[in-house]
Amino acid sequence: MPATPLPIVNPATGTVILRLVADGPREVAQRYAAARAAQPAWAATPIRKRIATIERFRAQVIARAETLAETLTQEVGKPIRQSRNELKGLVARLDFFIAESARTLREEKVHSEASLDERITHEPLGVIANISAWNYPYFVGSNVFVPALVAGNAVLYKPSEFATLTGRHIADLLHASGVPEDVFVPVIGGGATGAALLAQPIDGVFFTGSYATGAKIAAAAGRRMIKVQLELGGKDPVYVCDDVDVRAAASALADGAFYNTGQSCCSVERIYVHESIHDAFVDAFVAEVKSFRVGDPLDEATYIGPLTRRAQLDVLRAQVADAKRKGAKVLTGGTAIKRKGNWFAPTVLTDVDHSMSVMRDESFGPIIGIQSVADDAAAVEQMNDTEYGLTAGVYTTDAGRAKRILSQLSAGSVYWNCCDRVSPRLPWSGVKHSGMGLTLGTMGIQTFTRPKAWHLRAA
Ligand code: NAD
Repeated sequence: MPATPLPIVNPATGTVILRLVADGPREVAQRYAAARAAQPAWAATPIRKRIATIERFRAQVIARAETLAETLTQEVGKPIRQSRNELKGLVARLDFFIAESARTLREEKVHSEASLDERITHEPLGVIANISAWNYPYFVGSNVFVPALVAGNAVLYKPSEFATLTGRHIADLLHASGVPEDVFVPVIGGGATGAALLAQPIDGVFFTGSYATGAKIAAAAGRRMIKVQLELGGKDPVYVCDDVDVRAAASALADGAFYNTGQSCCSVERIYVHESIHDAFVDAFVAEVKSFRVGDPLDEATYIGPLTRRAQLDVLRAQVADAKRKGAKVLTGGTAIKRKGNWFAPTVLTDVDHSMSVMRDESFGPIIGIQSVADDAAAVEQMNDTEYGLTAGVYTTDAGRAKRILSQLSAGSVYWNCCDRVSPRLPWSGVKHSGMGLTLGTMGIQTFTRPKAWHLRAA
């Protein structure tokens, strides 16, 4: 079979940074065999030694942070300050895993009577595949490979084809930190390489990406009785009540919608505003968006960079055209920006409703629809009217009102007076098309193990 080229393209300029070759089925099978052979010795290594490799990895990330941030910006287009923020956030996640893993994975004695003991041990799954996304490669990758390694698994890690260089950095740093090369194994390439990885007799697949690909992964794994975890897309709503500081809420939500150029799984994708403050909120929101600096992602002042994937320009153009045809108003943006690379102007739409794709389908770009609602009940109904359920939030000064609203929302994470936020201490999960399973929190450590039940009778 001819080798598949894997050009690494800078999305800000359209220029090729490097030309690589994707791993084909033969290389993938070889890597799998090596990982399978290496996993038992890794599982037998004391957990404190496995954790020590992550401590050294943490030190390496801090020491190389600027180089790592520049690579991320060059291949993904993430504005440089946001690349640095991602690396800072990575360190905080590593701290959580370093602090919590040994306690979370230790043997538990759950019952003891006369000569009978009942215990639980947390056994590694074995060899797992981690098929990852590009938008936060350090976050979504480390949520999986760090606890998986600490728990004693070998990891076949396929970074997104749009974050290959970052994936190679991660592998180099882990290997330099003492994780054996056959225990953390990068597999490089796009969808075909991912499919070849899935065809190996792995013990689990941990996927981050779109619903469309997630559904293919679930179908491919379905008859094999292996663990399948899917962290997928969202259409995350926020409701702004009539009692808020309008300017502060508009500023926070503009950041929640446009940070990372709108390419976060938990970006705010729909905003519902109480009708009594709708116009004031929209004015403040549009002013904020117009103040965003669009430009070279390596420039310190840049807040909005290019889209990572060129194909997404068509999705955004189609959403704007559909919305306009059905009566929406474009208050700013609405078109691609004419320059080399993948650029779309920050876009705010009003007079939107749920007949429009922009309020139903994941946009994953610098675009937002703002809809007026009559009351809290209408807001809840609109927020739950979606195939997705990753996050949902409310802005209000009234704690009781917030709790009443959030308790009715069908989402993995709910926010009061905050948005676009992930905590290493809380489980990260989605409902409906946003996925199944979870990462982060102590449950997100145990998820890389299977419980083994011990019934021990002394006589
Ligand atoms: P994607 O589905 O296009 O690709 C994800 C990964 O799957 C890539 O590594 C890709 O090479 C691989 N892949 C593609 N086809 C495959 C196949 N047939 N078999 C095996 N692997 C295959 O998604 P993306 O563009 O990388 O990421 C964006 C999506 O990810 C958005 O929908 C976003 O919301 C979602 N996301 C979710 C979370 C979360 O935590 N829920 C986090 C980040 C991103």
